[in-house]
Amino acid sequence: MRVLLIEDEAPLREQIAAHLRAQGYAVDVAANGNDGCFMGTEYPVDVAVVDLGLPDIGGIEVIRRWRGADRKFPVLILTARGRWQDKVEGLETGADDYLVKPFEFEELTARLRALVRRASGWTESALTCGPLVLNTGAQQLRVNGAQVELTAFEYKVIEYLMMHAGEVVSKTTLAEHVYEEDADRDSNVLEVIIGRLRKKLDPDKTLNPIETLRGRGYLLRLPRS
Ligand code: CA
Repeated sequence: MRVLLIEDEAPLREQIAAHLRAQGYAVDVAANGNDGCFMGTEYPVDVAVVDLGLPDIGGIEVIRRWRGADRKFPVLILTARGRWQDKVEGLETGADDYLVKPFEFEELTARLRALVRRASGWTESALTCGPLVLNTGAQQLRVNGAQVELTAFEYKVIEYLMMHAGEVVSKTTLAEHVYEEDADRDSNVLEVIIGRLRKKLDPDKTLNPIETLRGRGYLLRLPRS
């Protein structure tokens, strides 16, 4: 999952980014409204965290421009304590949730997970596709009740595919949502990861959890429940 973070306070920005990366997100960061606005317009963002008090254009204006350009990803705003009007204005402009500073990073990630899930049509905190159950909070995957050990990158890939179960996900799209903008992307690496996931999820080759559609991409066809 790709998160865009716009925050002008450098120490806070770095702390949030580090926490989100530790939670399996690919994180793009912006230190001002103009850069952040551009990134949200051009990058394949899954969810955005927007500080409202920015040095150039404010967070409200950034969200207004995104929504005006039909960018629909969920947005969580960060507001200063005591500025309740900002919260109201942010939500009315199209933000989906808010946190008042200072906040616990765990609360931020829990809220982001909920926003991403809902945007993909999931209501439960665990994603269930046939015998696959993914707990996005604990970053844990079970197949028929047995836990599967995954590397951080394997987790990112299966999380994206399960989040979009039933949809064809092209290799480009998958790469765009598991790598940050500045990352060195290699589609051969993704193929290797998919191969490893198939072995780990389906050692007996009975499930075929990830199908390859030649020239189109990958499909997790197991039914959502
Ligand atoms: Ca600020």
